[in-house]
Amino acid sequence: MSTIESTPDVLVIGGGIVGCATAYYLAKRNASVVLVEKGEIADEQSSRNWGWVSQLRNPNEASLALLSQSIWRGLSDELGTDLDWVEGGGMYLSDDDEHFREFHRAAELMNAAGVDSRVLTRPEVEALIPEIAGDWTGGYYTPTNGQAEPAKVTAAFARAAQEMGAEIYTNCAAEDVTVSGGRVQSVRTELGDVNAQTVVCAAGAWSSKIGRMAGLSLPQRKIRATVASTEPVPIFTRINVWGGGVAVRQRNDGSLVVAGEGTADHDMTLDSFRHMRLFMPEVRRNLGKIRPRFGPEFVRDVGRAMPWSNARKHPFAHAVGVEPKPNMNKVRDGVKSLIQLYPHLEGQIRIDKAWAGYIDGTPDRTPVIGAADGLEGFMFATGFSGHGFALGPGAGRVVSELILDGQPSADIHMMRYSRFAEGDLSPYAR
Ligand SMILES: Cc1cc2nc3c(=O)[nH]c(=O)nc-3n(C[C@H](O)[C@H](O)[C@H](O)COP(=O)(O)OP(=O)(O)OC[C@H]3O[C@@H](n4cnc5c(N)ncnc54)[C@H](O)[C@@H]3O)c2cc1C
Repeated sequence: MSTIESTPDVLVIGGGIVGCATAYYLAKRNASVVLVEKGEIADEQSSRNWGWVSQLRNPNEASLALLSQSIWRGLSDELGTDLDWVEGGGMYLSDDDEHFREFHRAAELMNAAGVDSRVLTRPEVEALIPEIAGDWTGGYYTPTNGQAEPAKVTAAFARAAQEMGAEIYTNCAAEDVTVSGGRVQSVRTELGDVNAQTVVCAAGAWSSKIGRMAGLSLPQRKIRATVASTEPVPIFTRINVWGGGVAVRQRNDGSLVVAGEGTADHDMTLDSFRHMRLFMPEVRRNLGKIRPRFGPEFVRDVGRAMPWSNARKHPFAHAVGVEPKPNMNKVRDGVKSLIQLYPHLEGQIRIDKAWAGYIDGTPDRTPVIGAADGLEGFMFATGFSGHGFALGPGAGRVVSELILDGQPSADIHMMRYSRFAEGDLSPYAR
């Protein structure tokens, strides 16, 4: 097996959209970059997501969302591949009057932050999507939201990064981080030690574990989310819609990407108990929506923590090629809700594929981007809390700017790592 010979300016850990976009923007500006990925490119969240490019209701993300949006519009051309980008808009439906009132507050904040967001009455929603029915009161509409095909995007960033000179090693986990004198000295990978000026941790749901190797405490949790896609039906809307028990996007070929609302599955591991205090407000807010499950994964995780376990030496060996189980009850519920939302689909829906992915989240559902105070040469670009497909291109750009210019072109103040220690969490997370 070959070893990594380079001593790059930057080592990126993780080949999801954030890591690959970071490698691309760095290499484009002639920085030398090595990216290591424990499995294949886009093995985890970045190929499993719904493909929504939303500018959500968290004003702390608005600046990065706007930067990302400006990149998305030209991304197929920039990367030289059709990414199935469509700027069709995004709609959230309110369950009741209280929820609808929240839309007004969110729209005010998002418009002030520069994102065109509109609150629509039920007839106004129906005018935009004539097929829509079901039990909901109104809508929150962002006309500039869009969609793209997840697996295509990350692969295109990786390919373009390589064309610009980045070295990408797959099936190569980062297994340890050596720190001395307040600085990262090297990272042990499966293909040898790498010494880099800067290490970027873009390891998605595994970032907290990598942080711990460097002596850092990143609060992070992962939730198993189930998705399904259908066989194509005639195209009726390009607006991504979330409400009435379902989230749905219609792709270019007419197929639908469908996810049922309701409870999410939290497969308990030892990590679930770390940072419990920080997650408590979020747990209370979403009481009943997240179902903890003690299963074989918990038992295996305890085994991996034992001193004799091989996981001590190869801490990510068990995490390669994992295919999380979709929750088929959620798929069935999602399809039921889909037909209530769009009755014209009755008799037309055939599930083509169902899958699941672990979504990484922080206590305030806001990413962590930037340096870790007190540790020179280390940066996080992680914790995207279900929004990282949309924000990925902008995140890659700002990480490259932080490294090369010391200054990002988007306001990422509320994404700083130190906010956890300061107790200054984003108040907007739902
Ligand atoms: C079901 C689902 C639906 C979603 N829907 C949307 C959506 O519609 N819109 C949206 O904006 N976001 C969505 N998200 C969230 C979005 O997919 C993520 O926020 C985004 O992909 C995060 O990208 P990432 O690069 O940070 O992480 P990931 O894509 O998870 O990539 C991290 C990579 O790091 C690698 N890695 C980990 N540890 C190591 C190591 N030690 N060494 C080397 N490599 C390592 C992993 O193998 C992985 O490939 C969804 C997520 C899921 C699961």
